Amino acid sequence: MYEPIVGVEVHAQLTTSSKMFCSCRAEFGAEPNTNVCPVCLGLPGSLPVTNRKAVEQVIRTGLALGCEVGTLCRFYRKNYFYPDLAKNYQISQYDEPLTFGGRMELSVEGRPVSIRIRRAHLEEDTGKNIHLPNGRSLVEYNRCGVPLMEIVTEPDFRSAAEVREYLLQLRRLLWYLGVSTANMEEGALRAEPTVNLRDPETGERTPKVEIKNLASIRAVHDAVEYEIRRQYHCLETGEPMQQETRRWNEAQGITTVMRTKESAEDYMYFPEPDLVPIEPEPEWVEAIRAALPELPQARQQRFVAEYGLPEYDAQVLTEDRATADYFEAVVQACGEPKACSNWVMGDLQRLLNESGCSITESRVSPQQLAELIGTIKDGTISHNIAQAVLPKMWATGHSAREVIAAENLALISDATEIEKLVDEAIAANPKAVADYRGGKEKALGAIVGHVMRQTKGQANAAVVNELILARLNG
Ligand code: ZN
Ligand code: MN
Repeated sequence: MYEPIVGVEVHAQLTTSSKMFCSCRAEFGAEPNTNVCPVCLGLPGSLPVTNRKAVEQVIRTGLALGCEVGTLCRFYRKNYFYPDLAKNYQISQYDEPLTFGGRMELSVEGRPVSIRIRRAHLEEDTGKNIHLPNGRSLVEYNRCGVPLMEIVTEPDFRSAAEVREYLLQLRRLLWYLGVSTANMEEGALRAEPTVNLRDPETGERTPKVEIKNLASIRAVHDAVEYEIRRQYHCLETGEPMQQETRRWNEAQGITTVMRTKESAEDYMYFPEPDLVPIEPEPEWVEAIRAALPELPQARQQRFVAEYGLPEYDAQVLTEDRATADYFEAVVQACGEPKACSNWVMGDLQRLLNESGCSITESRVSPQQLAELIGTIKDGTISHNIAQAVLPKMWATGHSAREVIAAENLALISDATEIEKLVDEAIAANPKAVADYRGGKEKALGAIVGHVMRQTKGQANAAVVNELILARLNG
């Protein structure tokens, strides 16, 4: 019985302000062909200079993935001709990558899965060809020379679900490290899986297929799933297969042949003569390691252990660092971790979505949200009223207690005041009273409801219940 063998190669644009080998800006979305110079256009006589920040970001990522850092890392020229590559070669790394030999632990459908990371190295991005409907093509060189990190796994995935989980975890890690926006729509994160099938007994394999043109994690998942099925089908029907690169067609949900695969030799890699090899000093590497933030998987586990949160909450809250920081600030100010989690993931998130704000731009600070949660805890307002208070805090910038005072929303807990209302409610609902006395406990609801309507929900429900019971049983 054949099993799927899947590996994933990811290219992530780094967040440096300048390009890999020149001082051009590396931003996304600038006017076409404005961020270019002789170096990134590959003009004769220009010389590249390595961006130290980019090297640091790759080492940072490699360390977070449990990789070793190389002691002598060379750049190579990967030669090929394509219009979006002005130099006719890409400066990349070959057999001496910056970092190698890491691992990522995943949990997929409740099972632990361990994925080996072969390497995380540094290279430069290419430009972009834009093909017009009239048959002409344009070349955009702004992206040419932008620092690119390539992260390659061993072929350790056995299903599309494992690949999806890896990409979700990797993207979250890159966000935490602040090394990439990892935005797939903008092309800042590109994933290329390789898929084939292997007979574990005989070692026989189907030819390896690489899939390109994947614009989302979901597309990667669907394409891998499709490709596994297609190869099983070819095995069954005896349809010939070959080593090739296939393109994902999102609309039709199929892969189609793009080109037959080049081998590494086709690129004629040779050492880049214009750049000295990088020899990262051990002190520098240790300083980068010491400055690593708490990593997302560890933080997620801590949220479960320390705050007693459900696994789901812990995962959502640690999706990005800012949300996790916000949540922890709220908990620090008011305790009540589960209530804080519900507010951050629920009502606050809704307001953020509606206004298109990120959590760092929230108009309600963690301290203000903590105060609101505190007013429920001390019985000043009910949960329902608090849900109406939060949008008012958002709109006005006022604190919870200011909104409650201004709109007179505090619960009525004064027994004399409520007693009067309870007496009215009892008088107005003789049938409910009779039913209750006849043994129907549920009939009490009608009387409680009467008091709540009279007070627009502002009576303290605990006090109301207590007083009604005292009257009826007394
Ligand atoms: Zn440049
Ligand atoms: Mn590459």
